[in-house]
Amino acid sequence: MEQEFDLLVIGSGPAGQKGAICAAKLRRKVAIVERQRTMGGVCVHTGTIPSKTFREAVLYLSGLRQRSFYGSSYAVKDQIEMQDLVFRAKAVMTREIEVIKSQLRRNRVSVFEGNARFLDPHTIEVIGDNGSQVVRGAHVLIACGTRPAHDHDIPVDGKPVKAVAQVTKQAFVYVFDRVSGKPVWPIEERPVPASSVPGESASKTQPFPTRPAPIDIQGVRDEDLIALTPEIHNEAKDIVAKYDHGPLFTPPSERGTIQVPGVAGGGNWAGAAIDPESGMLYVGTYRLPFVVTVRRPAQGESRYDFIGEFRYLPGPRGLPLLKPPFGSMLAIDMNSGDHRWRIPVGRAELIPTVQALGIRERLGFPTRSWALITKTVMIVVQSGYFGAPRLSAGGTRRIADLNNFDPHLWVYDKTTGEMLAEIAVPANAVGAPMTYMAGGKQFIVFPVGGGPLVEELIAVSL
Ligand SMILES: Cc1cc2nc3c(=O)[nH]c(=O)nc-3n(C[C@H](O)[C@H](O)[C@H](O)COP(=O)(O)OP(=O)(O)OC[C@H]3O[C@@H](n4cnc5c(N)ncnc54)[C@H](O)[C@@H]3O)c2cc1C
Repeated sequence: MEQEFDLLVIGSGPAGQKGAICAAKLRRKVAIVERQRTMGGVCVHTGTIPSKTFREAVLYLSGLRQRSFYGSSYAVKDQIEMQDLVFRAKAVMTREIEVIKSQLRRNRVSVFEGNARFLDPHTIEVIGDNGSQVVRGAHVLIACGTRPAHDHDIPVDGKPVKAVAQVTKQAFVYVFDRVSGKPVWPIEERPVPASSVPGESASKTQPFPTRPAPIDIQGVRDEDLIALTPEIHNEAKDIVAKYDHGPLFTPPSERGTIQVPGVAGGGNWAGAAIDPESGMLYVGTYRLPFVVTVRRPAQGESRYDFIGEFRYLPGPRGLPLLKPPFGSMLAIDMNSGDHRWRIPVGRAELIPTVQALGIRERLGFPTRSWALITKTVMIVVQSGYFGAPRLSAGGTRRIADLNNFDPHLWVYDKTTGEMLAEIAVPANAVGAPMTYMAGGKQFIVFPVGGGPLVEELIAVSL
């Protein structure tokens, strides 16, 4: 027998729950359809709740939250094991599911278990373990969540591998087989410098992927410093000499350690784009060194023996400290792990200090860039900068200082990196672009704004 509802909701994640309960509170007859055996969607089962419960459990068991509490420093458990975390996560998830079920019950929302399939725009077949039933809704809310757009294999050394790649702020790309969890190319534990801070014991080794090669400069070496002129290079060396510096993973010190890549990357949360057809990975990366200093806190400032601070380290004459390209997009062939090409992204040559040197070539701008890959091209948008003017001042930066800088949408040939179009847009991006077709036209949409800037979506039609 068919059942009729004012609203049918497909999916019991946060979106479905909120939609169902809002409609029910408006006295509509509502049903929710869920294909998992339990309610809650990604949020409860694989996302927010488990990941944050793991974190909270580690903080509690390791004693980080209790340090110096009542004058004593202790950890609840010496050896934290996976089963401790799973136990806690299960308890929280069970409680969350109870809360959701009780909310739906209280608001008289009917629940159907099974996979929803449209028969027509108002009729849905729910296919469950014990057969199927048909439900109708005057309105249907599709709250099915998302899944990665591409979960294809990539060809590695000629063989298809179900891979997962993690781009990091240290300028590494860690690549694993996502079925076995094993590295696709060996990852070696290598010795790294020790800490000079009294009482501090930094890890003796760190994991270095053997392939792909690092996506950007790592550590501080003279040959990587800015050298637009010999004088500028000498001034850059003078700046570096004021701080501790060395290879990647040189620990923070009381004098201040130059960190390259800096706190913001290398790679950043702009992530990377993969072309599933060619197996090419496109990674935005930038050169923005920081100084990380460890110091003893002032009276009453902290319960810890040492506290840390970091700040952006500008180069000479307000220029970046490292050589160009200051911001770039790198194409990596994931078949072999080889870098194919790198192009500068953004136009630091617009900065007056650079213009005064008569430099006209593209230097790239040191901020995050997002790539969108289509069948033929790579579309790139870039974020603005924090602090005005970013490249001529150090010190603390706040999100409220977010500024636009030469905002563009760039289109490149994805196989060569050759620029095909440069389209001026009203504001810099703050997130990844996406594309869709409507009415026979292709649109590219990306988010802008934040801090003092208006938050909007900008759509560019091609
Ligand atoms: C590891 C991880 C950590 C995260 N951490 C955070 C965080 O800290 N903070 C935060 O805000 N967000 C976090 N998120 C994101 C958050 O979990 C998601 O944004 C949120 O769950 C999306 O809600 P949703 O209702 O749109 O979809 P989902 O939660 O994906 O729910 C969709 C539901 O629809 C059901 N469904 C799909 N198709 C059908 C069908 N045909 N018939 C019946 N049912 C169907 C699915 O089974 C699922 O239960 C995290 C995500 C992950 C993966």
